[in-house]
Amino acid sequence: MALGAPIDVLVIGSGAAGLAAALSAELAGARVAIATKTTLQANNSSKAQGGIQAALGADDSPALHAEDVMRSSHDTADPGLVEVLTSEAPDAIAWLEELGCGFTRENGGYRLARCGGASRKRLLQVGDRTGHAITKALREGLEAGAAIVSAHHRLTSLGQSGAGWRATFETPDGADEIDAATVVLASGGRCFAEAATRGELSTNHPNATGETTRIALDAGAEGRDLDALQYHPNGGAWPTTMQGYSIPETTRAYGAVLLNADGEEFTDSLGPRDEVSQAIFDEVDAGRGVLTEDGRPAVWLDTTRIPPADADVSLPYMLRRYRGAGIDPLAERILTYPVLHYQNGGLVIDTRGETTLEGVFACGEIAGGTHGRNRMMGNSLLECVVFGRRAGKAAAEKARS
Ligand SMILES: Cc1cc2nc3c(=O)[nH]c(=O)nc-3n(C[C@H](O)[C@H](O)[C@H](O)COP(=O)(O)OP(=O)(O)OC[C@H]3O[C@@H](n4cnc5c(N)ncnc54)[C@H](O)[C@@H]3O)c2cc1C
Repeated sequence: MALGAPIDVLVIGSGAAGLAAALSAELAGARVAIATKTTLQANNSSKAQGGIQAALGADDSPALHAEDVMRSSHDTADPGLVEVLTSEAPDAIAWLEELGCGFTRENGGYRLARCGGASRKRLLQVGDRTGHAITKALREGLEAGAAIVSAHHRLTSLGQSGAGWRATFETPDGADEIDAATVVLASGGRCFAEAATRGELSTNHPNATGETTRIALDAGAEGRDLDALQYHPNGGAWPTTMQGYSIPETTRAYGAVLLNADGEEFTDSLGPRDEVSQAIFDEVDAGRGVLTEDGRPAVWLDTTRIPPADADVSLPYMLRRYRGAGIDPLAERILTYPVLHYQNGGLVIDTRGETTLEGVFACGEIAGGTHGRNRMMGNSLLECVVFGRRAGKAAAEKARS
């Protein structure tokens, strides 16, 4: 594809991480191209409902946020990356607001919820369509600039070319190549493909197939914790139209609890994700689970405990989906079981988002280290914005150096 003047920064993927990186690179003065597998809007980020973490409460601080991340990761996260993630979170929120993302407010401040594993209320929300609102703001910011958008470009290989990198793509019109001084990989995780291989349900978008990670590893990049995949504790189990739907963790933040077949609470419903998922697996294995009408394992999520006023403000999409499927979660309990959700590990990066390949950066779910082997809810969107901004800026500076 003839793109005119040389490209400084080529971004691969158009989720929150890729959009933040492309916008940040452009704001740093780079000539930017963004290539993505299908459309600019197709990604996991837009599906994110629950929210994004930032220590903005009066009783909170980035240091407490960092402690929670390290504890939830069982001390497997990279402390340097965690320090960046948590200390830059308030500024990331301010940036998103400048771009037009309006977070839900109440009583003169942000409406904050406590997510699993957190010691404070720290989760900002835009109703329960937070990922949609964040990606929309980033996309509109990018589209207002001069970045070149190459949709329907699926990366198939990456190799060095002169002083930079050459990316090869499969497109509906055949193969294409783009040369750039630096590359930012922001192609997300692999849980859709992994679930298909395992014959399980997943919350992920069909584009989450992970081939870019493999391409980077083949080019010599280092990876970490790639075997650590995360189950979302609360996949929808019934009715069939809700199977694979990720019931927002905010249901539990606002009072819903997990119950076994006998109606007993069997775990701390707001524990770290891996512990809550494991508790559900164990409860079902011990014969105290419930079977769905199509014979799937499940436990109850007692959503009737959520105050209607909280549900109206913070769970309107979830309510609409369930009511449309014939179940009112405020009037009856719903059936849930863990589903494959997130790739905790990924490519090794430094605090500027550079991989172990010089000139190749990575941000978002494709990168490893920020969450170690167990991510907290609300820290992935945050990672996309904080490290997307950093990677885009650093890639622009390197391209011009
Ligand atoms: C249902 C759901 C709910 C979630 N809720 C939350 C939440 O409340 N809070 C939170 O923090 N996190 C949440 N997450 C996790 C979070 O949304 C994602 O981990 C994060 O948004 C990933 O962003 P990303 O930009 O790295 O990847 P994605 O958003 O997945 O974007 C990847 C992009 O790369 C493109 N791509 C893939 N392969 C290629 C290729 N070979 N060539 C070119 N392009 C390619 C894709 O098409 C896509 O555009 C949720 C995830 C899901 C699925």
